[in-house]
Amino acid sequence: MIRTELKNLVTFIQQTYQTSDFIPLHEPRFNEREKALVMDCIDSTFVSSVGKYVDQFEKNLADYTGAKYAIATVNGTAALHISLLLAGVERDTEVITQALSFIATCNAISYCGAEPVFIDVDKRTLGLSADSLQAFLNQYAEIKDKQCFNKQTNKRIAACVPMHTFGQPCEIDKIQAICQQWHIPLVEDAAESLGSFYKGKHTGNFGKLAAISFNGNKVITAGGGGAIITNDEQLAKKAKHITTTAKVPHKWEFNHDQIGYNYRMPNLNAALLCAQLDKLEGFIENKRQTAQTYHAWCQQNEIQFIQEPQNATSNYWLNAILLNDKDEQQAFLEYANAQGVMTRPVWTLLNQLPMFKHCFAMPQNNAQWLADRLVNIPSSVKI
Ligand SMILES: *Cc1c(COP(=O)(O)O)cnc(C)c1O
Repeated sequence: MIRTELKNLVTFIQQTYQTSDFIPLHEPRFNEREKALVMDCIDSTFVSSVGKYVDQFEKNLADYTGAKYAIATVNGTAALHISLLLAGVERDTEVITQALSFIATCNAISYCGAEPVFIDVDKRTLGLSADSLQAFLNQYAEIKDKQCFNKQTNKRIAACVPMHTFGQPCEIDKIQAICQQWHIPLVEDAAESLGSFYKGKHTGNFGKLAAISFNGNKVITAGGGGAIITNDEQLAKKAKHITTTAKVPHKWEFNHDQIGYNYRMPNLNAALLCAQLDKLEGFIENKRQTAQTYHAWCQQNEIQFIQEPQNATSNYWLNAILLNDKDEQQAFLEYANAQGVMTRPVWTLLNQLPMFKHCFAMPQNNAQWLADRLVNIPSSVKI
């Protein structure tokens, strides 16, 4: 049995998307423009690792985010992996992050041979809690030679990776100040927050580097794809080099000066993304309208809707509501999904997964509270 209001919410979602057919959580929107650019790319035969669309997309993405440099990659996980390496994450170091995140955050940390340290999140922003971060550092960290070490493990704390959950910016200026004070490089997992701003600045511009994702479920997509953004010219050059097999440019010779990665975005995907990026502002306007509609309805029906935090403009990638407890959450998930309205709880907290169970975690009161109550509801751009 669930509250009448929750049943009505399912009906309201069906009305919002004007269908009683299956409603996915987030589906992409394409039209003739995407087809035209992809066809142009195919006709050019430059579908793979070189071509004008990669260059154009990188330029347009830098313009849109206000970052000086953007480097397109094969997916968001690869972008995060390289961002961490370039921030100085290496084997047997520790990386501070949040347990309430998608697995990619911790996978990228693991690819570097490092281990995550889990800090709690804010209930309000869903992102890394500046207070929990400060508490952890006060208790466990010390600075030696302008580097931060964990006093208990003697390992270097090589980076801090907050995540802008569902596009809601976290308190990134506070986190930035703490990281600066403790000499910890800041890398933003901005995979979900393309088009989200904090105090007027696009997310991803607060750290040394940031990763964005263009997976099929994100705000704009290339099927798969990602990007690194940075304001540091040297890091940008290194990022381009290391994601393109570290090949030394030459007309015919194949020389590589370090171990590189084949993490480039194919031109074909970049063509699709050029068309998508042109539509981003319209998509976000549309999504923010839907969020407003949901919010107004939820307010009238005594359901808690997650609004953008103070000082922030969210892309509202995924809308979310908070239910009274885990039982109600489970009952609503059952009911809505049975009606063909896709709904989903947050990810299983990463510190509970078998690969990361042994890693250090601060008390996860807020993350667990959210995990027991939060439900994402359909959020695609309305046609
Ligand atoms: C989507 C996402 C990524 C990157 O995912 P890819 O599928 O590799 O593009 C990274 N972190 C978070 C939090 C994400 O949601």
